[in-house]
Amino acid sequence: MAHEITLPRPAADFHVHVRDGEMMKLVVPTIKQGGVSVAYIMPNLVPPLTTVDAVLAYKSRLEAVDDSITYIMTLYLSPAITPEVIHAARQAGITGVKCYPAGVTTNSEHGVASYAPFYPTFAAMEQEDMVLNLHGECPSSGHVHLLNAEEEFIPTLKDLHSRFPRLRIVLEHCTSAAAVRAVLECGPTVAATITAHHLFLTIDQWAGNSYNFCKPVAKFPSDRDALLEAATSGNPKFFFGSDSAPHPITAKEKAKGASAGVFTQTHAVGYLTEAFDKLGKLDKLVPFVCEYGRDFYKISEKETSWKVVMTKQESIVESQIGEGNSGVVPFKAGEKLSWTTTIVEE
Ligand SMILES: [Zn+2]
Repeated sequence: MAHEITLPRPAADFHVHVRDGEMMKLVVPTIKQGGVSVAYIMPNLVPPLTTVDAVLAYKSRLEAVDDSITYIMTLYLSPAITPEVIHAARQAGITGVKCYPAGVTTNSEHGVASYAPFYPTFAAMEQEDMVLNLHGECPSSGHVHLLNAEEEFIPTLKDLHSRFPRLRIVLEHCTSAAAVRAVLECGPTVAATITAHHLFLTIDQWAGNSYNFCKPVAKFPSDRDALLEAATSGNPKFFFGSDSAPHPITAKEKAKGASAGVFTQTHAVGYLTEAFDKLGKLDKLVPFVCEYGRDFYKISEKETSWKVVMTKQESIVESQIGEGNSGVVPFKAGEKLSWTTTIVEE
């Protein structure tokens, strides 16, 4: 009899990119396929989602593709996000605001150059109990580069936390031992998401392979080990956010300037189960993927009519989803996973 784990409820993924248009139609169905029923949706569309109406319209488009998923929605921090917009967003059921430093990753050219002008917005968010999602990197320039961009951001994280101690802040997709330490040093309102791919990758696997290239980049083995330790520690400050980020093959195979992002949605829980199993920490899987994030966000969600069963049985990651050069290549494409995800309709 194969080793089997039935999740008490499907996973919650607190950092999801599904884009819009044809890409959205291709990717949204893979949320459920990967074992996830709650998806925290990122707002970096073109143009970015900077109004309540734009966010609500996007949510409707997502629901038209698969309405069994609970989509938790965010705004893109920009000068348009005034305290008045925050109050209206809360009324409209929007949960968070995502802050991209200008120019650090996909569609972040409209991002933030300085945080001080947004203090009134953050104060309104604190008052409304909304969540600030930080892409925690400083833009490369001077002594700042891909490998220290996250560590250089830590003083900003700590400064915002000390100014707004009751504001819930998530340091998104943390990738370094330094970031893990910083999150532990902050109070209970500061948490971090950890992706599936950063539990596997180090610098060696993305230098020369654009499919493993994302921002923040995977770093040293000691950093990956710190992430594995944090994810499997049973500390509720660390929970799952895949940062699954689909790009068409044409954007990943560009000779110059390949797009940053790793696509993990189709096997989201599968990759995590593999990583936790290797460390003998399967007992920590359910809290990390199902509990801590839901608790931090205090979300209400739809009932699902399906459950997620993980079986210790080999599966092969598909070589791509979608057709031709507009398709998307998943993480570990063509490789074996030792766990199979099955969605069981009830
Ligand atoms: Zn992201």
